[in-house]
Amino acid sequence: MPKMRPIKNNRPTQVAIARLFGRPAKPHSTLPSRRRRAAVEAGEIVRTRAEAEAAIVEARKSHERLREAIDILPQGIVFLDAEGRYILWNKKYAEIYNRSSDLFKPGARLEDTIRVGVERGDYPEAIGREEQWIAERLAKLYQPGTQHEQTLADGRVVLIDERLTEDGGIIGLRVDITELKQREASFRLLFDSNPAPMIVCSLDGEHILGVNDAAIEHYGYSRVEFERLTIRSLQAFDTELPWTGSNDEQTARTWKHVRADGALIDLAIYSRQLVYGDQPAILLALMDITERKRAEARLTFMAQHDGLTGLPNRTLLRQQMDDLLLHTRRSAEKVTVLVLGLDNFKAVNDTLGHGIGDKLLRGVAKRLRSTLREEDVLARLNSDEFAIVQSGVTRPEDAVLLARRLVEAIGDPYLLDGHSVVIGASIGIAMSPGDGDESEKLLKNADMALSRAKNDFRGTFSFFEAEMDARAQTRRKIEIELRDAIQNDVLLPHYQPLIDLATGRITGFEALVRWPHPERGMISPGDFIPVAEETGLISAVGGLMLRRACMDAAHWPDDVRVAVNLSPLQFRVGNLLSTVMDTLKQTGLAATRLELEITETLVLEKSSQVLATLHALRSLGVRISMDDFGTGYSSLSYLRSFPFDKIKIDQSFVRDLGSDRDAQAIVRSIISLGKGLGVTITAEGVETEAELSCLRNEGCHEGQGFLFSRARPNAEIVSLLQAQRGGDPVGTALVA
Ligand code: C2E
Ligand code: MG
Ligand code: MG
Repeated sequence: MPKMRPIKNNRPTQVAIARLFGRPAKPHSTLPSRRRRAAVEAGEIVRTRAEAEAAIVEARKSHERLREAIDILPQGIVFLDAEGRYILWNKKYAEIYNRSSDLFKPGARLEDTIRVGVERGDYPEAIGREEQWIAERLAKLYQPGTQHEQTLADGRVVLIDERLTEDGGIIGLRVDITELKQREASFRLLFDSNPAPMIVCSLDGEHILGVNDAAIEHYGYSRVEFERLTIRSLQAFDTELPWTGSNDEQTARTWKHVRADGALIDLAIYSRQLVYGDQPAILLALMDITERKRAEARLTFMAQHDGLTGLPNRTLLRQQMDDLLLHTRRSAEKVTVLVLGLDNFKAVNDTLGHGIGDKLLRGVAKRLRSTLREEDVLARLNSDEFAIVQSGVTRPEDAVLLARRLVEAIGDPYLLDGHSVVIGASIGIAMSPGDGDESEKLLKNADMALSRAKNDFRGTFSFFEAEMDARAQTRRKIEIELRDAIQNDVLLPHYQPLIDLATGRITGFEALVRWPHPERGMISPGDFIPVAEETGLISAVGGLMLRRACMDAAHWPDDVRVAVNLSPLQFRVGNLLSTVMDTLKQTGLAATRLELEITETLVLEKSSQVLATLHALRSLGVRISMDDFGTGYSSLSYLRSFPFDKIKIDQSFVRDLGSDRDAQAIVRSIISLGKGLGVTITAEGVETEAELSCLRNEGCHEGQGFLFSRARPNAEIVSLLQAQRGGDPVGTALVA
């Protein structure tokens, strides 16, 4: 660290310092006394030698103070005289140049120190062109007011700012800007090589000051073209600038920009104010989210449309319906919803395969669309159901006209992969506001009307009626309560005896489910079995009944059987065979004492899986009965598909036995058919002695009905059987 030297014997320095403080130390003794007095008054000269020495001491003190003051400056500072000689410098200056004190001494010339520095290789820029560099450096020294940067051998960068003083000397400032330079370099690196397009522009967005390579590549404009553009001219729609909103708004927003080729791109823009060169500017980092936007749009489309037909799905339909309903709320216009279901679509799928099924659905969608007006909404609700929403309609007749047109359009044959496929459609109609003023309700009601149309007669349409809704609500209530009843094990079997008509003895009992309801008393199966089947609760009910019936029967005499009704659905859900096997094993009931009653509808499906299960059950020793014989469409043909052990003549034939000769003929032929096949024939619903004697005359094996007994709880069955053991008379003796 160079130390300041005393200035006593150093006249030029003394003068320079005195000048620095505005008090030139002039020689005093040579002046004439008048002028001298005036000079003393003006403070220009020192009066006596003592005063002069005091003044010098004072000047030294001031000099020390100045030195102290400049030493605490963070910048380097140097004072040179008009000949470029050092007068004064601070610690920081010496530190920056790291020169020994023999180089830095008052009176030494800057040029000399520069030369020494050049020789030592302090200035990498000078290497190889030393003289020229020195000349340039000195030229700068005398072009005050300009700034320049100097790179030192150790990589530091110094900003040099030199100004002329009044007397031709120089004040030089040195700022170590190494860190700033490094930061600038990192920024440049970050900016230039950033994969994200970046733009620097003026605060008003009117001038683009810089762009990185990514921006050039992304937009397709050259650097020069960019310079002529403004931020607004890049924006496709917006007039405001991305950095003018609040921070939250900025990050939430996306912008559309136009590329050189005219294509639109979606951008998320991050903006920052910074100093660029030496002016305040805005840095924009641009993130292209065009692809993401597209993917989002695709996802939204997929979430709102049916993949197969491209039609709106239920979600979008509901939105569109809500909009329509809102618009028509105050007008006389109605919103009409038609729910269209294809008749027997499943059969097409099953017989011709899903490929053709899909093509058929696409064909149907196309025909529907071309039958409708453009403003009508068409949506696909589920596999074979479509919804059509019409607005601007006020009369039900208009809905009828449309329904007819639709059914007709769909009814024409489709040629699919060489197959001519014909499919019918049924339609349910609901109209706002009468049938509902919310989309969900209208759809639900139209759906209910569709079920009615399908049940009544396929290929037709049906309007929603309030009573359908009431029915649906009751069903819903039953479903909820039935769940509880199953959970709490409330359901129980009552047993109705089956009587051998020849001997009058009880051969077995049919288990009939009963639901003791706290408010509605005993609910009969007809009221809840269909609900159980619709809701899938039937498996639970069936399993429960099977278990209870087998458990009870296990305590009855060995020659008494138990018959349990099975729902067709029990063949579809779960494994019926293993359920039966497990139950028999757990209750200890012999398989031969169990009879399972199935209805024709089940065999109607005639699927190999159902038949295999039936055969397997039968080979266990379980007997299989056909219940309600004669009520289905083709009872006879189904007798051929499976070797039943028993046929139960439906009670509708038995009821008419006394009066209707046809009924007698039918019952007679069923009995003889049974005999021919070696199958037991049981007559259901025997209520009168006349019916009984008629059945006996025809040779019917078994009877079941109120004439003998209603279904009774298990507790009564035991006493009933004991009475029979005691030799009570047959048949009628059982009537309660
Ligand atoms: P089903 O299997 O044909 O049972 C005979 C039905 O006729 C029983 O009605 C019985 O009470 C009734 N019945 C018996 N004798 C007479 C009579 O002389 N006159 C009249 N009018 N009716 C008589 P229930 O108990 O109401 O059962 C109705 C149907 O519910 C049953 O018809 C059966 O299909 C079904 N079901 C009953 N319990 C179950 C069960 O546990 N599971 C399944 N899946 N279905 C059951
Ligand atoms: Mg039955
Ligand atoms: Mg029956």
